[in-house]
Amino acid sequence: MAPPPAVETLLAPVRAAPHQAALLLDVDGTLAPIVPRAADAVLLPGVRPLLERAEERYGLVAFLTGRSVADFDRMVEMPHLPAGMNHGLQLRRNGVVEVAPEAIPFLDTVRAFSEEWANAPVLRTAGIWLEDKGPTLSFHYRSAPDPAYARGVLESHVLPAVIAAGLAGGWGRRVLEVRPPVRVNKGTAARALLAGTDVTAAVYFGDDRTDTDAWRELRAMRESGELVHVACILARSAEVDREVAEMADAEVDGAPGVRDALKALLEVDGH
Ligand SMILES: [Mg+2]
Repeated sequence: MAPPPAVETLLAPVRAAPHQAALLLDVDGTLAPIVPRAADAVLLPGVRPLLERAEERYGLVAFLTGRSVADFDRMVEMPHLPAGMNHGLQLRRNGVVEVAPEAIPFLDTVRAFSEEWANAPVLRTAGIWLEDKGPTLSFHYRSAPDPAYARGVLESHVLPAVIAAGLAGGWGRRVLEVRPPVRVNKGTAARALLAGTDVTAAVYFGDDRTDTDAWRELRAMRESGELVHVACILARSAEVDREVAEMADAEVDGAPGVRDALKALLEVDGH
């Protein structure tokens, strides 16, 4: 199916000069439908061959994801492409993964925090699972027998320790995320991935609040003249917040809509 007219219009300058354009892609909810267990998520059928073709034609094809490096690689299996993982705290360029420089001074503290809490009886009793993602830690309580009790344990035991350690804590969906207290996000990652390339246009497909950091950053790059054309496209779903939708330039219908847009980006002269 052809993308909506508003999307076609936004993509036209990108398609006209692909070598000078970047395709920046969120993964979950954008290239892969959301599923109840994140570990079960897979790329929408047909997306991978499109990405492989896009890689040949476009100046840059890169991913921005909240997943850990190992988790992202297991799911997408394109480790040769640039990516910002762990919400931008880890960047892969030229096949090498590096931690964002701002976060490096905190890595020892994150590691020590992980070791301190990995086998804490209070977590085990509450059914909380600690996922060590390297520069960040996720305390999951989705599968806790009593999620309200588990959240209480995190609020009363773990969060004060996070603050005492000089780290930052934030709540996600049934998860407490612990990370270095630095301003690193998908926006800073997008900027870093574009640095050193000669692309002048960027299109970003995303579905969630964390993607709006990238939209904001790309628009700032357009304002400053670092980019000429920017398209921020939402993969719409029933769960998307209104504020996120309002920040997009245009929208497509979920991951299938993104797949249609990728197809359109690969058409030459309408074929
Ligand atoms: Mg997403």
